[in-house]
Parts: sequence; structure tokens; C-alpha cells
Amino acid sequence: MSPLTARSSGPMPGRMMQMPLLISSLLVHAARHAADTEIVSKRVEGDLHRSTWRDAERRSRQVAQVLDALGCEPGDRIGTLAWNGYRHLEIYYGCSGSQRVCHTINPRLFPDQIAWIVNDAADRVLCFDLTFLPLVEKLAPALESVRHFVLMTDRAHMPASTSIESLKCYEDLVEAQNGAYAWPSFDENTASSLCYTSGTTGHPKGAVYSHRSTVLHAYGAALPDAMGCSSADVILPVVPMFHVNAWGLPYAAALVGAKLVLPGPHLDGKSLHELFEGEQVTFSAGVPTVWLGLINHMKANGLKFSSFKRTVIGGSACPPAMMRTLEQDFGVEVIHAWGMTEMSPLGTLSKLKAKHQALDPQARHHLLEKQGRVIYGVDMAIVGDDGRALPWDGKASGDLLVRGPWVISSYFGRDDSPLRRLDGQDWFPTGDVATIDADGFMQITDRSKDVIKSGGEWISSIELENIAMAHPGVYEAAVIACKHPKWDERPLLVVVRKPGVDLSREEMLAFYEGRIAKWQAPDDVVFVDELPHTATGKLLKIRLREMFKGHVLPGG
Ligand code: ADP
Repeated sequence: MSPLTARSSGPMPGRMMQMPLLISSLLVHAARHAADTEIVSKRVEGDLHRSTWRDAERRSRQVAQVLDALGCEPGDRIGTLAWNGYRHLEIYYGCSGSQRVCHTINPRLFPDQIAWIVNDAADRVLCFDLTFLPLVEKLAPALESVRHFVLMTDRAHMPASTSIESLKCYEDLVEAQNGAYAWPSFDENTASSLCYTSGTTGHPKGAVYSHRSTVLHAYGAALPDAMGCSSADVILPVVPMFHVNAWGLPYAAALVGAKLVLPGPHLDGKSLHELFEGEQVTFSAGVPTVWLGLINHMKANGLKFSSFKRTVIGGSACPPAMMRTLEQDFGVEVIHAWGMTEMSPLGTLSKLKAKHQALDPQARHHLLEKQGRVIYGVDMAIVGDDGRALPWDGKASGDLLVRGPWVISSYFGRDDSPLRRLDGQDWFPTGDVATIDADGFMQITDRSKDVIKSGGEWISSIELENIAMAHPGVYEAAVIACKHPKWDERPLLVVVRKPGVDLSREEMLAFYEGRIAKWQAPDDVVFVDELPHTATGKLLKIRLREMFKGHVLPGG
């Protein structure tokens, strides 16, 4: 065979270096190129702690050594019950970088559920903030797999006595190590972290992320049409590090070398505003409920932002009224985003294309209020009841399916596949119902289980909630389906009024006139003092439906 034939037969292999995409490489990159860029943490202990990416990398190596010293094997799960802070960040990187799996646990879940999750994951070590000492003391006897309990604090803050046998002090463990640790290289498909869905129905299920999926997600998240992170940013993730890895920000911040500001447990409006101003934060991300507190505090005290430019809001639908307040009153661009635990979590973000720039403000807002367009790396489709793909016309709504390298293929410890087939491919069914327009802007109308089916037609609870939230007297609103003898289901609006506001049922119902078709408007309004939320701050509709199971609608 002549050299020419040998070269031209069959596909030709690329001749590029094989470098696995590893989480440790993000940290090494940040330590080298953003060595003195700060990581500022509001500690549980109350004070402000300052460190740098250089410090984070060194201490993460020490954490890896600690895990070696504790006898942890590759693949062992290391649980955390912790707020956003530098120690949590070191555990993220120290665990994953040394081939252990960082398992972030939502401390706002019911204690029984936390114990169930720790046991299901078979966590070997449990690291937790001071806040959670009483909780862990109560749970410890039920946590069968945990061999080491580590309190994430220094010697001075260790409790004088505790029921936890041989409770370890994080800082003592870290300081005992010299940091002489070389980040190992291994298969990029190795598991890096584990996060359970909030489990609003049934037992929570674990999503197991890999190094590859995490690094690719960080690239995607940092893109200009996504979160648009850069080394000029000061990023404050309000979204907790136990809520789908703070939406990937601890990784994206390292990737671009941004300053990171971690608020710890101090998430009230006043503390957040002080931190935003004190550290000159430019970018943030969080669920809609956290912004309610901040906006109220700022309005009540006539406060403004001096550096804060843009924020991602997602996790549940961002009410358009909130978007407008942040933009018009506070000069903050809102990027509406959609995703889920099973998607690492980012799927879509609402950013305008060049051709939309010339639209009038109302048309622009209409697009920005949608959940947005996919990032490269996520593919989506909507299907009808017959399982066939629906058109992207902005009208047809159906079950939303996704696929991509940062979407799960199965759950932790489960053999059954959650995937569905469409056009010869595997897709993950999101459980959301959506429309997609010709430009690829996706809009969630509901979660499939929250949809209201009235006389065979679907009514979007999100749309009704958004209208209610635009009323100046409404603090928070939820819409659920209520049984109806004639229509099967009709919408019931549950409202929390703003303090001191006198808003009647009739006034609230009248607010829907002209804003939505008459048959879609709620049949009734109930006022409550507070709405139930999930551990990640979303409306807990399952509880609301239980609360109003026997509610009789007028004419019902
Ligand atoms: P859980 O499913 O336990 O609530 P996730 O945080 O994974 O936990 O929630 C994902 C779900 O949250 C999505 O499937 C969707 O229903 C909802 N969601 C997320 N972002 C948005 C958004 N911007 N608008 C409407 N719903 C959203």
C-alpha cells in the first residue's frame, strides 16, 4: 500500500492531545491566572473572611489529603450540609479532584428526609456548618454509613460537649496536612458530585454529575448568551451551593477567574444589600423568592445598587413584575433561566438575538419573560400526547424533552431508565409543559402535574400567578387546580397580601379582566398569611392542593 492510500482510507483520527476534562483543572487554572482574585465569605461565625483562588487551590489539596488520611477511597461519597462559603468550596474541589464524590445535601429538607438521603448515598464522611450541629446531633444515630463527622469550623468554635462521638474539627484536619498533593489524572467520565432532587413527590432521586459534564456545563454557563461570566465580574451566588451546585457558579467563576462572594447563611435583604455594596458585586443568581426580600428591604429604605448589573433568576418562573422592578427601579438586567437538577442545571436562558434589538420595549419584554433559548450542549423538543414532536410555532404546547452531555442518563443507584425515545434518540422527560417559538425561545406553561385542566382545555397556572404578582398589593401568589363538577378543574388563586394592604377578593378577580381570557381567570381567591415552599424556595403546590382539597368554588 502506498503512503497515499494509507492516508486516504477511512475516517482520519485527529492529532490533538488527549486531556481529560477534570474539575481540578478549573481550580489550577484559577490559581495560576487569578491567583490574587478574592473569594470573600460571610461566615456562619458572623465575620467576613477573605481569601484568594491561590488559597482555595492550596487548601483544596489539603482537603484531598485529609480524605486520604481519613481512609476514603475513590468513589466514596462525602456529604456536606453547608452554606455558601470558602470551606464548602474547598470541599467541592478537594473531594472531586481526588476522585471522591461531593454530595451536597439540602439542610432545609425535613430531618427524616436528610437521613434517608445520607443513607441512600451511603456517605462516608459528613461535613457540616456550625448552624447544623443540633440537627446532625439528632440525626447521627440514624446515619449508618457515616464514619467521620467533621464540623466546618476552627478549634475556637468547637462545642465544649456534643453527643457526636469523636467529632472532628475541620481546621485542625486541614492544618495537619502540608498540601504536598498532586492532582491525579483520570477518566473524565468519573463521578464528581451528587445532588438529590427536592423530592416534591416520592423519595428524592440522586443526579450523579461527572467531571466531563461539570466542566462542559461551566463552559456553557459562562457564555455571553448564558450567564456571561468574565474575569471582570464579582459573582455572588445567592443560590445555595446545595441547590444543584449553585447552578455551576463555583466552577464557572474559576473558569473565568472571577471574584467570588459567598453570603453564608446571611440571606435576608439587609445582609445581602450590604454585601452587594461592600464587595461591589456585578452579577448574581437565585430563585425568585430571595429577590422578594431584597427588593422589599431596598424599597422600604430607599436604597440603590452601585455596581450590580445583572442577575439570573430561575428555578421557578420569574414573575414579569419582578423583572420590571429590578430593571426599572434598580437598573439590574434580569436573565430568566430554566433548568433542573437532572440538567446540572442550566437548560435555557432568555437573551435577545441581534434581530430583536430593534423591537419595541413591550415586544422585547415579551421575549425576555420566556424561559429562553438553549445553550449549545442542550437539545430540546416538545411532544404531544401521541409522543410525536410538535412544531416550534410558539403556540403548540407539549411535554418538554431534553438531551445533552450534562443531562442525566439514569439516577444514582437505580437501574430503571427515565429516558424516552424520540426520532431514534434518547431524551430525558423534564415533566414540564412548554411551547417553543420559531426562534427557539421556550416558554414553560406549567409542570405537567400543576397544569389545570378545565373542560378539556389547559390553563397555565404560571400565567395566572404572573398576573397576580403584577398587582401592587400582592406579595406572593400561587394558583392551583380545584375540583369542579362541571369543568373537572378550575383555577383557585391563593394570595399573600403585602403588609398593611387592604385587597379584597373582588378587586383581585377584577384585576384579571382584560389581562386574560375570561374562562382562564381564577374562579376564586383565598388570602393566607404565608405560602408553603419547598426546601429550594419554590411554591410547594402539593401542600397547597392538600390544604384546599375541600375548597368549594362559587358555583361549584
Ligand atoms: P425539583 O424538581 O425537585 O423542584 P429542580 O430544582 O430540579 O428541583 O426543579 C426543576 C423544575 O423547576 C423544572 O422542571 C421546572 O418545573 C421548574 N423551573 C425551573 N426554572 C423555571 C423557570 N424559569 N420557570 C418555570 N419553572 C421553572
